[in-house]
Amino acid sequence: MKTRPVKVGTFQIGAKKILIIAGPCAVESEKQMDSIATSLKNLGINFLRAGAFKPRSGPHSFQGLGEKGLEILSKTAKKHNLRTVTEVLDPRDVELVATHTDILQIGARNMQNYALLKEVGKTQKPVILKRGLCATVEEFLLAAEYIFSKGNKKIILCERGIRTFEKDVRNTLALATVPRVKELSHLPIIVDPSHGTGQPSLIPAMSKAAIACGADGLMIEVHPNPKKALSDGKQSLTPIEFKKLLQEIKPIAKAVGKTT
Ligand code: PEP
Ligand code: MN
Repeated sequence: MKTRPVKVGTFQIGAKKILIIAGPCAVESEKQMDSIATSLKNLGINFLRAGAFKPRSGPHSFQGLGEKGLEILSKTAKKHNLRTVTEVLDPRDVELVATHTDILQIGARNMQNYALLKEVGKTQKPVILKRGLCATVEEFLLAAEYIFSKGNKKIILCERGIRTFEKDVRNTLALATVPRVKELSHLPIIVDPSHGTGQPSLIPAMSKAAIACGADGLMIEVHPNPKKALSDGKQSLTPIEFKKLLQEIKPIAKAVGKTT
């Protein structure tokens, strides 16, 4: 099916230009966000990601800065003229999160949280819907349908890997989902190779593979100092590693008729 682009500001997600979203897993401080925003802007990146509400596997891990994190994110974005992506975890926070960001993210753990899907469906904010850890492609598309059926058509799917018996990588990045979604749906689909592999050494190769198989964009975790990160530091790229990745994907994008 022909992909129907989703407009965010002046950018058409799902058209010829590949969407690149980068940034830390979580908002940690004003200084950290200012540092990463400066690096990204210097690299020509216009979309900043960072979570203020974090869906951590355990309750004792850093849960994010909450509303304070949203304020830091929107302040940083304004200063550097960046568009933002941040996760909403709770239906009661949709309105609040929507006032601080350009794109709402529904995380993998919430892909089947139907109350949350319906709530974001009632807004007109673009939504990145991440594939659930154990969701089939059919369930993934039906989750999008929940948002769509409430009136919000601005949905971008995100393949971020699924849980399999393989323990060598954090998740198994199911790239066949990309061309399969293109057969079944008009929604744009991007790939998150950071959660999809959990290993910085594998992220450039999987980014190139994602673009080669037709992905409309990438979402990559980049941190000014991954060793000090409060979440997902192990899978975060440094700005220097990220710069190299951006160079590597250019010829692949060109080969499939896209631009970066
Ligand atoms: C994230 O994007 O930081 C995140 C928590 O992703 P996922 O929901 O895919 O695990
Ligand atoms: Mn993360």
